[in-house]
Amino acid sequence: MNTISHHLTDETLQEYAAGVLSVSMETLIACHLTLCPVCRARADMADAIGGASLDSEQTAALTGSASDILAMDKTLPTIKPAELPPVAAGLGVPKPLARLLPGPLAELPWKSFGPGMKQYNLSPQPRKEGAFKLLSLDPGSRMSKHTHEHRELTFIVSGAYSDELGQFNAGDISDLSGDHHHMPHVVSDVPCISLIATDAPVKFDGLFGKIVQPFVGI
Ligand SMILES: [Zn+2]
Repeated sequence: MNTISHHLTDETLQEYAAGVLSVSMETLIACHLTLCPVCRARADMADAIGGASLDSEQTAALTGSASDILAMDKTLPTIKPAELPPVAAGLGVPKPLARLLPGPLAELPWKSFGPGMKQYNLSPQPRKEGAFKLLSLDPGSRMSKHTHEHRELTFIVSGAYSDELGQFNAGDISDLSGDHHHMPHVVSDVPCISLIATDAPVKFDGLFGKIVQPFVGI
């Protein structure tokens, strides 16, 4: 059953179509697209319009609300689950992520950065061009409240977390711009594993953030 309820923003899909996003963000977006027929259709639409050369009329059409674009989905052919690209056999993660992993999630060389919190870096220089990493948070964990200088994309691989915007389950994407503060906490009874890509380092609020930030490095 498709339980995806949080999608990419129009702005992100336009930039994806225009090919101006980092490789890590493109990979993360591809993970969501393999599971989400709604955003696949929207990405095709952005592609057809031509993300790179938008005149003002097209821009006006594309900046319609997400609900407008999602409403267009009703006119699209139904995609049966059997036709969806499969997740990588054995690893249980979407293929765009699976090809970056040396093995199953449980066997990765995770690095702990706090009680019940660990991360696995997918980018050799996370601090220069933004982070690209897997984060695993135990049930009940709560991230320090933080904001971002530019953008943070989060793809939920397994488990679930909740923040001010609602609950995010496996397959969902959280697409946050820089002016948004959030404080995610894990609501699943299994660890919540998410893939995170940021444009720029995260800024944590408060004392805990100042302590944990050097270790998290996002
Ligand atoms: Zn989607």
